[in-house]
Amino acid sequence: MSLEIKTLVVGPFQCNCSVIVCKQTKEAIVIDAGDEFPKIKKALTDLGANVVFSVATHAHLDHIGAFSELKSFSPKTQIALHRDDEFLYKILPDQGRMFGFSYDMPPLIDRYLQDEEEIQFGQQKFSVIHTPGHSPGGICLRFEAGSLAPEPVVFSGDTLFRSSIGRTDLWGADHSQLIKSIKQRLLTFDDQTRICPGHGPNSSVGLERRENPFL
Ligand SMILES: [Zn+2]
Ligand SMILES: [Zn+2]
Repeated sequence: MSLEIKTLVVGPFQCNCSVIVCKQTKEAIVIDAGDEFPKIKKALTDLGANVVFSVATHAHLDHIGAFSELKSFSPKTQIALHRDDEFLYKILPDQGRMFGFSYDMPPLIDRYLQDEEEIQFGQQKFSVIHTPGHSPGGICLRFEAGSLAPEPVVFSGDTLFRSSIGRTDLWGADHSQLIKSIKQRLLTFDDQTRICPGHGPNSSVGLERRENPFL
């Protein structure tokens, strides 16, 4: 494989944060730097990673809480998310208050990710799938077969979990839109496609198609 991955479970909400490095160039992305920056920093140092993008699958606090520290540690890192979650990103301090945590304003957004866009880092790339429902600007990230694993890999954020789906009682969420996003944009992939959710264990498209009680 041309990519190396390290996934960390961070923060009180146990968010899965993944560091993905191009083995040839050491350019890397961090998906959902949600909390516990020292752990993320250690992974970056161990991997010799030069972070070019800090990507949020969506802008809930548990997925963006360590963006400030990551940007300070690695100032050239571009903060990247979907425009429809910008409003959530900007109310991070309010999100924190609601759950009893204190946050400063996060760093400025450098790049808005769009549906079906391909993002290059090092000699590798991923594509963006806009999957609104859990939040308006929720996205999934897809890596083609052979880059990260023999099978295709989709980082599904809080859109799709193993045998579950994201909650739809927070800002701008919409249950029927979430189901539509999952059915039309994720379940259309081959059964063997690996699903790496924002919380909990990995799954596959086939397993969710067969066993997810919400679908
Ligand atoms: Zn969420
Ligand atoms: Zn979450």
